[in-house]
Amino acid sequence: MSKHDPIQVEGLFLNQSSKSWDNYDQALRWVQHLIYEHYAKKTQPFSGIQLEELLAQLGTIQLIPEENRDLFEVLTQVSQSILQHSVVVHHPACVAHLHCPPLIPALAAETMISATNQSMDSWDQSPAATLLEQKIIEWLCQLFSFKETADGVFTSGGTQSNLMGLLLARDRYILDRFHWHVQKQGLPPEAHRLRVLCSKSAHFTVKQSAALLGLGENAVVCIETDERQQMCINDLEQKLQQLIEKGNLPFALVATAGTTDFGSIDPLVELANRAREFGIWFHVDAAYGGAIILSDQHKSKLAGIEHADSISVDFHKLFYQPISCGAFLIKDRSQFHLIKHHADYLNPEEDESQGIPNLVGKSIQTTRRFDALKLYISMQTVGRIQFAKMIDYTLELAQKTAKLICADPQLDIMNPIPSLNAVVFRYRTSHTPAAISARDWQNQINQSIRHSLLMSGKVVLAQTKVEGESCLKLTLLNPRTTLEDVETILTQVKEIGAQLEIERGEKQVHV
Ligand SMILES: *Cc1c(COP(=O)(O)O)cnc(C)c1O
Repeated sequence: MSKHDPIQVEGLFLNQSSKSWDNYDQALRWVQHLIYEHYAKKTQPFSGIQLEELLAQLGTIQLIPEENRDLFEVLTQVSQSILQHSVVVHHPACVAHLHCPPLIPALAAETMISATNQSMDSWDQSPAATLLEQKIIEWLCQLFSFKETADGVFTSGGTQSNLMGLLLARDRYILDRFHWHVQKQGLPPEAHRLRVLCSKSAHFTVKQSAALLGLGENAVVCIETDERQQMCINDLEQKLQQLIEKGNLPFALVATAGTTDFGSIDPLVELANRAREFGIWFHVDAAYGGAIILSDQHKSKLAGIEHADSISVDFHKLFYQPISCGAFLIKDRSQFHLIKHHADYLNPEEDESQGIPNLVGKSIQTTRRFDALKLYISMQTVGRIQFAKMIDYTLELAQKTAKLICADPQLDIMNPIPSLNAVVFRYRTSHTPAAISARDWQNQINQSIRHSLLMSGKVVLAQTKVEGESCLKLTLLNPRTTLEDVETILTQVKEIGAQLEIERGEKQVHV
C-alpha cells in the first residue's frame, strides 16, 4: 500500500500524479466525444421516445453496484440511455421554453468550476472566486444603473431571486412598521394582512414565494393586464386603495420585465412611482428580460428598472449560460442585514471587522457554486457587442415570425408585436365536427399538435393558455435559428394540424 494512497483511490481524484492526469484527461475526452457524436450531431430536437418505453428502459438499470465499473463503459451506457433521449437545446426546432443553448466558453468554464469546486459561502473556501463574483455583481449593479450602495449575489435562478426579494421586502416592512424582527421573532400577529401586488401575468414563483414566506398564496393580489399583457396602472391604483381602505398591508409591488408567455414588460417607471408613493418595496422580476440591458437598441424598454429596490436576473436564459445561473441585485446593501446569520465556523463576526468577505451573509444558500465564472468567461470571450447582436437578432426574428403568422390564414397570432422573443399563436381549425363546440375543438387540436410534434421528435414547441384558449408558443432564444427554420416549424404545425383534424374528425363522427 502506498503511503499516499492507503486505500487505493489514486486516479479517482485530481492530484500531481500522472495517473490522475491520464484518468482526468481521458475521462473528459471521452465525455466530449460522446456529447459530440451522440448529442450535438442530432438532426432532430428529440428522439420521440414514449414515456412508458423510457421508464421501462431505465427500470432495468442497477443504480448502485457493489463493485466498481469501468468509467468509459458507464459513460457510454449513459450516452445511450440518457443523451439519446435528451432534448437537443441547440437545435433550431427546440423552441419551447426559456431554455437556452449554452455558449461553448461557458461549457469550458463549467469544467473549471466543477474541477476547482470553490464554495462561495466563505472566503476561506473561495478566496479569488469570492472577489471575482463580487466584481461581477458590481458590474451588474452598474449595468442596471444602480448606485454605489447597491449589492447582490448569484442565485440558482429567478425562483430564488424572487424569494429573496420578497423575503427582504417583508422583513423590512415589518421592522419599519411594527419594530418587529421576523428573523428572530417569526411572523407578527398582523401578518395575515400583508399583501404583495403583481400582474396576473407575473411568474408563478411570486405566489410560491408568498406561500414559503408564511403569507399564503392568497396574499398575492393580481392586477389586470392590458391587451399587451402589461400591468394596468389604473387597476393597480384601485386595488392599492381598496387594500388600504380594508386595513390590509401592501408591502411589495412586483413588476415583470419579460413575462414568461408574451415577454411583456410592465410599465416600470410608472410602477416605480406608485411604489414610492405608497411606500412599498419595488421588486423587478427581470429573469427573462434583464438581458436586453446589454442591447443599445432595446435597453430603453427597461427604463425605470434603476428605481427598483431589488432585481431578479437570470443568466441561464438570454445570457446563454448552462443551468443554473442567476443573480439577485439590491439597491441598498444594508438590507442584507435582515437575513444575515453569523456562524462561528463559517463567517464569524471577527472576520467582518477584519474586512474578510464571506458571501454567505447575502445568500439563502450555504454551499454555493462559482457560477459567476461562466458568465465572466462568456462576457470576456463574446464581448458586449456580440452579446447584444445575438439578443437583437432573436428579437427581430420574433417580429418577423409574428408577421409571418399574421399573414397566414391557417394561423392566428396572439401577440402581433412581440416585446421580446416569445411568439404565441394558434392553429386555426378549418371546420368543426357536429358533436363538439368550435372552441373545444380548436383547443383540442392545438394541444394535440404540440404533443404530436414532440412525439415525432421534429419540433419541441410550448403550449400555454390565453384567456382559456389553448395556444402554441415559440420561444426564439437561439441566435442560430433562421426565419427558414421558423417557416419549416410553422409548415409542420399546419400539416400536423390538418392531419389531426381529419383523423379526429372521423373518430368524432363515429362516437
Ligand atoms: C424563468 C423565470 C422565473 C423562474 O426562474 P428560474 O431560473 O427558473 O428559477 C421567474 N420569473 C420569470 C419572469 C422567469 O422567466
